[in-house]
Amino acid sequence: FAINMDQLQLGEELGSGAYGTVKRVLHRPTNVAMAMKEIRLELDNTKLNAIIMELDILHRAVHSSIVEFYGAFFIESCVYYCMEYMDAGSLDKLYGVGVPEPVLGRIVYFMVKGLKFLKDEMQIIHRDVKPTNILLNKKGDVRLCDFGVSGQLEKSLAKTNIGCQSYMAPERIKGESQNALSTYTVSSDVWSLGLATLEIALGRYPYPPETYSNVFAQLTAIVHGDPPELPDSYSEAARDWVNRTLVKRPESRATYAELLSHPFLLEDAQRQVDMQGWVARALQWRDAKRQERIRKQEQEHQHPV
Ligand code: ADP
Repeated sequence: FAINMDQLQLGEELGSGAYGTVKRVLHRPTNVAMAMKEIRLELDNTKLNAIIMELDILHRAVHSSIVEFYGAFFIESCVYYCMEYMDAGSLDKLYGVGVPEPVLGRIVYFMVKGLKFLKDEMQIIHRDVKPTNILLNKKGDVRLCDFGVSGQLEKSLAKTNIGCQSYMAPERIKGESQNALSTYTVSSDVWSLGLATLEIALGRYPYPPETYSNVFAQLTAIVHGDPPELPDSYSEAARDWVNRTLVKRPESRATYAELLSHPFLLEDAQRQVDMQGWVARALQWRDAKRQERIRKQEQEHQHPV
């Protein structure tokens, strides 16, 4: 079935990113809660139509590690993208001061399974692996979203891409600065996966902005510096796993199959991990932080300095 705006009852805003806002909506004909992303694009109808058609292959991306796609449509210059509503939101808001190793193992396992599925079954390279694109629900499911399926959409978004936290592999950073086309292979995603894993473990982006005076210094560190590592407090297996992803030479990085059969994820498979309990605690922490921020803002508003 094709989704359209008339069938949707709009709910609260779930968040906003670089390209638009995400709202919770109710699809009335099916009574399914969805998340609807609005992406404003200054394109003509032919191009917008092409994007909608390219997005259509997402209907085949059905996997327990992938956020389900329900459909997309456009109105005027906005593309609306409807997907499964993940009621715990994105991982960047949940990892707090870092997640314990068993939880890390489980999250990473789901991520690799999802990325491998996209690659093997859909011939899709994600291209934007980072904690904001990992969504969770209260049942403890971990799913990937926002992967590159529409060439037209990527092209239109690329122009506005300004991030101060780069998950790009060294070869991509070099490629971009030389204006080279298509230095992107699946191993570039493996680097981003490793960097995201490190961030989830540490509770912060691994190239902290305090250390680098500007984005250029940060990118230079990624290209020329030693790759960051997990601290000693993690198991040998976990540290080695991350080391296998953050290898500067793309040819030498681990493949998804190697990462899945690595001791870190073999150990993970043997463990019982209460993901549901962890998500519940992470949500409490996230919401307490939010309340604190709102209180602070109110105080500043009442007593401006
Ligand atoms: P970004 O551009 O930073 O990736 P998005 O625009 O994709 O951000 O999403 C903004 C925020 O909306 C996310 O950080 C997340 O909290 C929320 N969000 C996105 N998709 C969903 C979803 N399917 N279910 C619930 N929340 C979502």
